[in-house]
Order: sequence, then structure tokens, then C-alpha cells
Amino acid sequence: MSRFWSPVVQTLTPYIPGEQPQMQRLVKLNTNESPYGPSPKALAAINSLNNEDLRLYPDPEGVALKKAIATLHDLNPNQVFLGNGSDEVLAHVFAGLLKQNRPIQFPDITYSFYPVYCKLFGIDYQTVPLGSEFEIDPSTYKLPNGGIIFPNPNAPTGRSITRADIEKLLARNTDSVLVIDEAYVDYGTESCIPLLRGDKCPENLLVVHTLSKSRALAGLRVGFALGHPSLIEGLERVKNSFNSYPLGRLAQAGAVAAIEDQAHLEASSQKVIQTREKLVSQLKALGFETLPSTANFIFTRHPQHTGAKLYQALRDRGIIVRHFKSPRVEEFLRITIGTDEQSNELVTALQEILS
Ligand SMILES: *Cc1c(COP(=O)(O)O)cnc(C)c1O
Repeated sequence: MSRFWSPVVQTLTPYIPGEQPQMQRLVKLNTNESPYGPSPKALAAINSLNNEDLRLYPDPEGVALKKAIATLHDLNPNQVFLGNGSDEVLAHVFAGLLKQNRPIQFPDITYSFYPVYCKLFGIDYQTVPLGSEFEIDPSTYKLPNGGIIFPNPNAPTGRSITRADIEKLLARNTDSVLVIDEAYVDYGTESCIPLLRGDKCPENLLVVHTLSKSRALAGLRVGFALGHPSLIEGLERVKNSFNSYPLGRLAQAGAVAAIEDQAHLEASSQKVIQTREKLVSQLKALGFETLPSTANFIFTRHPQHTGAKLYQALRDRGIIVRHFKSPRVEEFLRITIGTDEQSNELVTALQEILS
């Protein structure tokens, strides 16, 4: 605390990122990174630009990257907004689209950065409870509102809803922006991107993506938003009032190559899905109850053991998972899907702990 802090800084409750422990030989299943490396083509592209040209500023507009993303998703480049990780994209979305006179809405159990941005930008919000099976029920989002945001699949539950459900919500919610955070969409969730194609692109739907999860580039910091050109223009205004160069030369080049390597994305996502399905059935045999996941993590609880106890017992064995202390979720563990080998180590450790 310092008397020189601005009043808003004194009120902040910052987001706490998952731990990046320095211990060796850890099974790190706590921050939803990919266990498989990024596209080798992305690494080659980054290496090829690691030279004298770093004295020059990068392209402030990220033209090549916008084009690659637009081509991949069959959109126009003016429907693409880029940021330094999707967290920065989300920050600009909160400041530029979700700061309205009415409170915005998001699930009571969701990505814990959303309320943090609300505090930072002075945005009122209402949380909408998940259903009894921890599902998002779009019919419980009430009008009028200042905007709606949720991840699909939701985090930390891993549960997703269909594109048709989101279309129904969009059909009702015509006077505010609906933001779908698709950070984990590549592990078996229906994307809303097809809704943005052609002349029927709604003026109030924004889809946010990241290269941190399925493209295994969390360390590069690249995220993007897709939507109607008028929404993107609003975001560009915020970005150009904050930082003209959010993406460095290496990040832009690596991201272009990663976006173009769809085969690498599909192969690694498929492996994660297979490991997930196997892990869910192994955990079931141990008495765990796991929410249906279409993400690269699962949310699981054991009726006879508290989340806190299991978290600590795993940690003692060098396996790091995530445990949230808030009501309704404190009985759960959120476990990132690792390699088959990591998954087997986890199951062996749990067998030991439970016996
Ligand atoms: C990981 C994550 C992000 C942020 O990813 P970046 O690394 O900042 O791109 C955004 N939303 C959700 C729901 C996430 O889990």
C-alpha cells in the first residue's frame, strides 16, 4: 500500500495466474498449457526473424497475421482484431464494448479474470448462476443488459453449449454485445465463427480466440477477436489509445506460421481428446465424478475426499493441479490434460492417495 496509488488501484483484486513452479520433475497439470510443443513451422519462422531487424518496430496493424486468420476462418481481415494474448484482447473488449450504463452478465462460475476487468474499468456486473449440473443455460440471461460474456466451453467446468443455443440467445439479445470466449474450442466444442461469415454477420457477436492453448504458444502471447467490422473498429480505437505495438515481430511471424499449420493443431488436439476420454474413465473407476468436458482440462470431484486434501496430496507427490477455494467449486479439482504418461502418473498417484 502506498499513498501514491490512485484510488482505483487501492480497490483492485488482481487475477492470480496458475502457478509456474520452478521445481524440477514436476507433472504440471494446472494452467491448461498444451503438453505438445508448438508447430515446428512456427518455431522456424520465429528463428528466421531473430536478427538485426529487431531494431525496427513491428507492423502495428499485424496485416499478415490478420490475413492468415481471416483465410483460415473464411472471414474478411477487417473482422479480425489482434492482441498480446487474449487476456489483452479481453481487456480492450471490456473497456471498449462492455463498459455501458447497464450491468453486464456472466456466469457465477467462470473465468475469474472477468470480474477483475470489471473492477479495473468500473463496470457493473451481475453473475448468472450455472444450472444444477454446472451448465450454462442461455435462457437465464435477462434483458436488458450491458453485454454478456462467457467462455464456450466454460472454464473451469469444461462444459460447452451448442452453437444453436448461442444463436437463440443472440436472437433475443439484440441490444448489447455477446462475447464468446473460445479459448478451448479446439477440443470438441462447436465454434460460433461460422455465424460471422458473409453478409449475415451479426453486429453484436464477438468471438475471442487464443494461441495459448491448442496452438501451444502460451509463451508467445497472441490472441484475437473476430466479429463485425464495426465492433473490430471500436476495439482498434481502444488499442491505438493504449499500445500501438502489442505484438512483436517474432510473435507475429510465429503466429502466422502456427495459424497456417492446421494439421499440427488437429493432431495435437486429437491426442489431448483421447487422453481426456481415457482419464475420465480411469477416474470414474476410482469413484470420481467428472463434468462432461470438451476442453483440454476436466473438472472432477470425489464424494469421499475434499478438493483441498486431494490437491495437497498430489502436490506432495510432485503433481500440480488447480483448486479454487470459492463456494460450489471447492470440492473440485481442475486437471489439465497432459500426455498419456503424465496422465498415468496422475492416476497412479490418486490410486495411492485413495487407498
Ligand atoms: C487461458 C484463457 C484465456 C487467456 O489466454 P491468453 O494466454 O491470454 O491468450 C482467456 N480466456 C480463457 C477462458 C482462458 O482460459
